[in-house]
Amino acid sequence: MPDLVCSDCGTIYPVESLIWLCSCGGMLDVVAFDTTVDAAALPGRAPSLWRYAEALPIAADPTITLGEGLSPLVPARALPHVQLKLDFLLPTLSFKDRGAVVLATLAKQLRVESAMVDSSGNAGTAMAAYFSRAGIDCTVYVPESTSPGKLAQMRAHGATVELVPGSRADTSAAALRAAGQPGVLYASHVYHPYFLHGVKTYGYEIWEQRGRSLPETVVVPVGNGTMLLGCYLAFSELVAAGLAEWMPRIVAVQASACAPLEQAMAQGLDSPVTLDGSATIAEGIAIAAPPRGRQILAAVRATGGTIVSVTDRQTAAARQELADEGLFVEPTSAVCFAAVRAAVDQTFDSASRTSAAAESLLTAESVVVPLCGAGLKSPTSTTRYS
Ligand SMILES: [Zn+2]
Repeated sequence: MPDLVCSDCGTIYPVESLIWLCSCGGMLDVVAFDTTVDAAALPGRAPSLWRYAEALPIAADPTITLGEGLSPLVPARALPHVQLKLDFLLPTLSFKDRGAVVLATLAKQLRVESAMVDSSGNAGTAMAAYFSRAGIDCTVYVPESTSPGKLAQMRAHGATVELVPGSRADTSAAALRAAGQPGVLYASHVYHPYFLHGVKTYGYEIWEQRGRSLPETVVVPVGNGTMLLGCYLAFSELVAAGLAEWMPRIVAVQASACAPLEQAMAQGLDSPVTLDGSATIAEGIAIAAPPRGRQILAAVRATGGTIVSVTDRQTAAARQELADEGLFVEPTSAVCFAAVRAAVDQTFDSASRTSAAAESLLTAESVVVPLCGAGLKSPTSTTRYS
C-alpha cells in the first residue's frame, strides 16, 4: 500500500503508522503511484467503484464492499445542459461511502480494533456502516444539532455516538483531542488521504458514463472539500494517463452563511479567510476553517474554476425544484443546483467577482452536478419557496 507524504515538508510515513497529520502540522497526501486504469478491461468489470482498481491505493475486500459506486448520471429536466449524478443512492445514502469503504478496508488490513471519526453527519453514517461490516468498533463525534435521521443511522450500525455541543468546529476539536490513542485509526475523511482516493472514483465514473469524456464544468459543494479534491485527483489522473483530453473547470459552491473559501477566492488569497460562520440549512458544508483549505483553493484555480455561494433561500428553492423532478435530496445537496439556477436566471449577486466568473462556467454546454445526500436524512426544512 502506498505511503503518506506531507504536503508541506515532504516527510514520508508508512500508512501502517496510523498517522493522520505530519509532525510539522502539514496535511498528508498519498505518495504518487501509477494510477493508470486499464480502459480496455473496464466493460468486463464489476459495476462498482472497484472497477478502477489500478487507481486505488488498496485492493477490494469482498467481505466489506457493498457494491458502492457507479451511481446513475441522468439529465436534469429543467436545465437541459446539466447532468445530475445521483450519489445519494449509495448504500448509506451519501457519496461518503466511496471513501468510507476504502478506510474500512484499510483498517481491516492493518488489523486495528477500533476507529474514530468526526463528521457533520454523512461521513459518520458511512463510517459507522462500513466499520460495522468490517467488524471494527467505531466512535463518531458529531455536533449535537446533527439531523436525527443521521444519528439514527449511526446508532443502527452500532457506532458509539458522541454528541458535541456547539459548532462543527467544536466537534473537530473534540475529535482531535481524542485522536492518537495507540491502535485506534482516526478514520478522518478530512485528514486521511486514502479517503480522497476512494471519493475520486466519482470523477472516474463521470468520465466513463459520458462515453469516456469529461464535461466542461463540474460543480461541487465545498465545506471540507473531500469531493472537490477527489474530483481534482481523478481529472488530473485521467488527463495524465491520456484517457481524457481536458480538465473540467471546477465550480465550488458554499453556503453564504459560512463561506471562507468563497471569500478567499474573491480576495485572491491562498488560504481560507477566518470567520465564525452562522447557521445554514446546508449543514454538510458549514465548515468555518477547512484544514485542506489551501489545497482546495489551489485545485480550483488550477482548473480555471471559481467558488461561489448561495443563500439558504436559494438552496431551499433548488431543493424544491429537484423534488419536482422526482429527486428528494438533503439541503446540502441542493446548493450546486441552486448555483446553476442562479447563473441561468442571472440572479447572482452582481457585486460578487466570483459570481461573474461562475456565470459562464455554469451555463457551459456540459455541466455535471452531484446530488450527494438523500432527503430523508434531513426531511425537515421543506418550506416551499416558489
Ligand atoms: Zn510536514
